[in-house]
Amino acid sequence: MDNAQAIECIDAVLNSEYHYDESLGYQLTSDDFEWLEKAKEALLMRSAEHPTITKHKYAQENSDELIEVNMTHCPHCFKDKQLGYFDSLIDKGTKHCHRCGKAMDWNNISNSQGETKN
Ligand SMILES: [Zn+2]
Repeated sequence: MDNAQAIECIDAVLNSEYHYDESLGYQLTSDDFEWLEKAKEALLMRSAEHPTITKHKYAQENSDELIEVNMTHCPHCFKDKQLGYFDSLIDKGTKHCHRCGKAMDWNNISNSQGETKN
């Protein structure tokens, strides 16, 4: 069983309307839901995802010309509304987000992405 399958199984339990397992004679408690959510979150953080790439324009010193660069963000932190745009930035090629530990997948990210565009 890989991480994605384990996450599917956890979701099946969490989303089930039946919280009683007859074969085990066990009723899920709120503690069970808490550790299942934590286990799911840990598995999601270990599953590498492509970085979120955004374009950012800034003015050059002594020039009216705007420079556009591709910025690379941790996809997990980028979705976090508590964080600002720059808080989710990660260095190109980094294996894990320095903030949350999310695994990054840089496969199939072209060389020009995440680097300055002129
Ligand atoms: Zn992160």
